[in-house]
Amino acid sequence: MRRPVVVAVARPTRTETVDALPTAYRAAIRRKLLGWYDRNRRDLPWRRRASDPYAQWVAEIMLQQTRVETVIDYYEPFLRRFPTVGALARADHDHVLKQWEGLGYYRRALGLHRAARLLHDRGGQVPDTAEALRELPGIGEYTSAAIASIAFNRREAAVDGNVARVLARLLGVHADVLSTEGKARIRDLAVQLVPVARPGEFNQAWMDLGSAVCTPKSPDCDRCPLQSPCVAATTGQADSLPVRNGKRRVVAVRVAVAVFVYRGRMLVRQRPTGGLWSGLWEFPNVDVATDPAASEAAVRGSSATGNGSRKTRSTACSASDRATLDAIEGLAQSEGVALAAPPSKVGTVSHALTHRALTFEVYECPVGKPSGAGAKRSGGWVTPAGFAKLSVSVAHRKVHTLFVKQSAD
Ligand code: SF4
Repeated sequence: MRRPVVVAVARPTRTETVDALPTAYRAAIRRKLLGWYDRNRRDLPWRRRASDPYAQWVAEIMLQQTRVETVIDYYEPFLRRFPTVGALARADHDHVLKQWEGLGYYRRALGLHRAARLLHDRGGQVPDTAEALRELPGIGEYTSAAIASIAFNRREAAVDGNVARVLARLLGVHADVLSTEGKARIRDLAVQLVPVARPGEFNQAWMDLGSAVCTPKSPDCDRCPLQSPCVAATTGQADSLPVRNGKRRVVAVRVAVAVFVYRGRMLVRQRPTGGLWSGLWEFPNVDVATDPAASEAAVRGSSATGNGSRKTRSTACSASDRATLDAIEGLAQSEGVALAAPPSKVGTVSHALTHRALTFEVYECPVGKPSGAGAKRSGGWVTPAGFAKLSVSVAHRKVHTLFVKQSAD
């Protein structure tokens, strides 16, 4: 019987000074990581469609800045509704947005739709190289590498924040992973490590390892297949790497939201194309105040708080309430409606975006009979049932839920 070949893995000590990783080291990392992946891979719906480039593309767009657990609920329904590039290309914007509703970052849906139309005009084939994929709207370095490696077996390294964290620890990279130098260093290492065989699965193995074992806090080194060659684990730096000097700056924003009501119908308007919540419907609203020093807790928080029953709604008016009421009056003017009674506060809704912690202060605003000039912008009056059919952001869906609940009390 042949004896197995044992490769002694020399661990690079200071990666910044190492230009090329030793061949035996690269081979050992690939073997260990793919072996672990074969035993531990997550069963995800898009992995059952690995040979379908369109399905991979949809998955990678949905996964941008969104948790796997969230995407799972949206993925198969989206593909059932739009099973091919052609089906997506032929769909209306509104139908695509409606199917995307709740996933957030709606520009992704519009980019995907635009790209599908471009491809449809060229025959409907998804490009099979990372370079060609990057020419499509919404596809950058990471997404193109992921699609090309998974769907077309191209030797491309897909590096996102998860992978950067694992590589910085594994190879002891002390450069700031958010800096140009740090990004280039991590990318260089990832490119060296990605194998010719099974590049897509190798990229997904990094992702699974980063998600299940080498997590941002408390990496589980004892369960890690890369523990013996890992610089951070063997030098006690797992908690201090990666280095990230650029801090996320979050701004707290207070938003006045007016639910103008006439005979059981509510005034809604459609957001312009481009920018946040592009093309979605919403209640008229305006930013009232911003605070650049929002806390992380505020950013993570997400809630809806009613103001109690109609009878107990507070009529006291603080300075901030006054500012909000002034803003509501401004909204009435800009929307071309006349208030028939003073606005009454329904409650507040918190909603976190990447860089903004939003607090919606929701007011019910009874209006007199709308004139022809009412709803000047591209809007209209809808019943609660009509509202349910519109494409709406999660934030405004929460506002509506709160409003309906409070109105029923
Ligand atoms: Fe991360 Fe620990 Fe594995 Fe190193 S040994 S890659 S720090 S989990």
